[in-house]
Amino acid sequence: MEIDAITIQANIRLVQERIAQACLAAGRPLDSVRLLLATKTVSAERIRVALEAGCTLIAENKLQELKAKYADLQDLAPDHHFIGHLQSNKIKELLRYELTCLQSLDRLEVAQKLNQRLLAAGKSLDVLIQINSSDEESKFGVHPQEAEALLRGVAILPALRIKGLMTIGLFSADTERVRACFQRMRDLQQELMALAIPNVELQELSMGMSGDLEIAIAEGATIVRVGTAVFGARMYPDSYYWNEAIG
Ligand SMILES: *Cc1c(COP(=O)(O)O)cnc(C)c1O
Repeated sequence: MEIDAITIQANIRLVQERIAQACLAAGRPLDSVRLLLATKTVSAERIRVALEAGCTLIAENKLQELKAKYADLQDLAPDHHFIGHLQSNKIKELLRYELTCLQSLDRLEVAQKLNQRLLAAGKSLDVLIQINSSDEESKFGVHPQEAEALLRGVAILPALRIKGLMTIGLFSADTERVRACFQRMRDLQQELMALAIPNVELQELSMGMSGDLEIAIAEGATIVRVGTAVFGARMYPDSYYWNEAIG
C-alpha cells in the first residue's frame, strides 16, 4: 500500500525535527543544512504533498523518473537536483530539464560532454563531485585519492561551477565507521579547499540519508538527502539505482 498524505506530512515534521536537533547538538545554525527529498520510485502525487508541506528541494536518480514527473510538479516550481549515475548518452536529454545542481559528477568524460552541451545552449550548471568515501566497489563516485585530478579537470570547464562534494556513506550499524566516512569527506573538503583551485568553491557537503543524517550533520553536511524517512520503504533495492550492472 502506498503511503498517505497525512503520514508524509508527519514524516516531514519528524525529519525537520531531527535536523533541528542535530544542528543544535552540533552548534550549527538551523539554516546551514538543507533538506533534499530523494524521490526515486515516489509518485508525482506524493511528491506534491511534500512540496505543499513546505519542502522545496527534490532529486531523482534516473532520467526516466525525472521525465515522468517533471511536468506534473512544474506549477510548484521545485528546485531540482540530480543525484543518479549519469551516462554520457543521456546528457542531452537531461539538460532539457531545469536542474539547479548535478550532485553525482564523478567522471571527466561526462563533465566535458556536459560542458560542451551547456556552452552550446548558453547555460551553466552547478555540480558536486561524488566521492566514494566507503571504498565499496558497488558504489559510484571518484576515489578520494583521485578527487584532486578530477577537480582540476572540471575546474577549467567554463559551463560547470563546482560547489562541493557528495557521498553515499557506508551502510553499517557501526556508527563509528559511518562517521569515519563523513569525517573523511570533511577532511577531503579541507584539503581540496587548501589547493585554492580557481573557479572551485567547495562549501557544499551533500551527505547523510534517512538512517545517518544526524552523524552527517555533526560532521558538517550542508545538504541531507532523505527518501525513506519521508516516503516510506521502497520496493526496489537501492542496488537498482546504485549499481552499474543492474541500473
Ligand atoms: C535513495 C537515495 C537517498 C535517500 O536514501 P534514504 O535512505 O531512502 O533516505 C540519498 N541519496 C541517494 C543518492 C539516493 O539514491
